[in-house]
Amino acid sequence: MLKLAAALAAGFGINGLPESVNASLKKLSSVDIPKIVYLQGLSCTGCSISLLQSSEPSPLALITDYSKLAFHADLSATTGQQALDLIDSYISGEAGDYFLALEGAVPYDMPEACVIGNKTYAEYIEEATKTMSGAIAVGTCAAFGGIPAAEGNLTGAISIKEFYNKLHINPLLITIPGCPVHPDWLSNPSRVSAEIDPCQYCAVSL
Ligand code: SF4
Repeated sequence: MLKLAAALAAGFGINGLPESVNASLKKLSSVDIPKIVYLQGLSCTGCSISLLQSSEPSPLALITDYSKLAFHADLSATTGQQALDLIDSYISGEAGDYFLALEGAVPYDMPEACVIGNKTYAEYIEEATKTMSGAIAVGTCAAFGGIPAAEGNLTGAISIKEFYNKLHINPLLITIPGCPVHPDWLSNPSRVSAEIDPCQYCAVSL
């Protein structure tokens, strides 16, 4: 669970985490710090922008000292086919352990509304369930459908959890709602729901 805590801290800031958790995180070797593949679907990128407003540690420290951010469309220098190959190396399982951070709802009735390279957002999410250590739904769009799932939407937008339900699978999923999500909310257990047992949940959000 420490790896999961590190993934959350790395992806979403560690403002306000108890000192005991911070101390444990600092003991993680660079080898143990989980990698994060961050994909965006039906989103406005507002959650990513919000997360970059973290103050302690700084956004730079988040993606250099505290995390191994493997890919983020807005932050990664790599682009084009190189970026797609990088994503595929993780989704296929070749690149090792990783957590999948997902920002945005899934266009269930219109998968082609969200395409990353040659694959849809939905295809990436489904394929990743075979290789990822867990998923993190970032923001209200990913957690509940949000604005993309508003009445009358043509895409059939659904949350990550609903998408997993459609697939009849139940992978580890952490949801952090908010529009946009705020890094500090990680430290508030009432704002975070986890599809894990209560003891593990306590370990994540002391
Ligand atoms: S939750 Fe709000 S800020 Fe985040 S991607 Fe959705 S609309 Fe944008």
